[in-house]
Amino acid sequence: MYPIVLKRIGEYLERVYGEIDLSEFIAPRIRKRELFEFIVGVMLSQNTSDRNAIKAYENLKKILGDITPEKILSSNFDEIVEAIRVAGMYRQRASRIIELARLFSKPGFVEKIVNNITNSSVEEAREILLKLPGVGAKTADVILIMYFNKPTFPVDTHITRITKRLGYLERYDYESIRRFWMKILDPRDYLKVHLLLIAHGRKTCKPRNPECSRCVIREFCKYYLSGKPRR
Ligand code: SF4
Repeated sequence: MYPIVLKRIGEYLERVYGEIDLSEFIAPRIRKRELFEFIVGVMLSQNTSDRNAIKAYENLKKILGDITPEKILSSNFDEIVEAIRVAGMYRQRASRIIELARLFSKPGFVEKIVNNITNSSVEEAREILLKLPGVGAKTADVILIMYFNKPTFPVDTHITRITKRLGYLERYDYESIRRFWMKILDPRDYLKVHLLLIAHGRKTCKPRNPECSRCVIREFCKYYLSGKPRR
């Protein structure tokens, strides 16, 4: 069981971090772009910081003009690799982006996938996205909540760490953490709390030496209350 006050975690965090600066996050910056470009941007943020993902995305834009399937397919593999190098895992990422471009360049593919996702439940839409090359659970959830406004809760490394430290779950795999937050929060708050928790992880509940003495949620954090670190 978790304390009821956890439902209001968004209010607590908002008092400290206020309005989130969306320009620090790659996905909200590009959520109005075409779906292909948006997915490429989110893929660039996998296992790296938003800062590096934004640099890689901007480098790619610089060499391609627009990030479209056609431009990707007509460019050189090494050029793509060079542009996205800053994000790491560049060869693997470049291959996945090219595979994705092949799919998205098929006639009718974009209309079909947008239509299917729009008209499916969250869980069905996730399954559709998880079949795409380079799209794992977190990427699928970011696409669903930011691009399609579907109620889901993406879990990144900051959210995983904070949830572990709060200490109300038996298991801390991706799905358990996602379902935990989806169960306790109002769906209208999913995106806001997702971003606030990331801000909290970057600024206060850091991987090493979390600043518990100035943390506004310490009264319901088991890590703080017990003094037993859970990493
Ligand atoms: S009390 Fe410490 S460990 Fe718990 S959420 Fe706050 S900063 Fe993180």
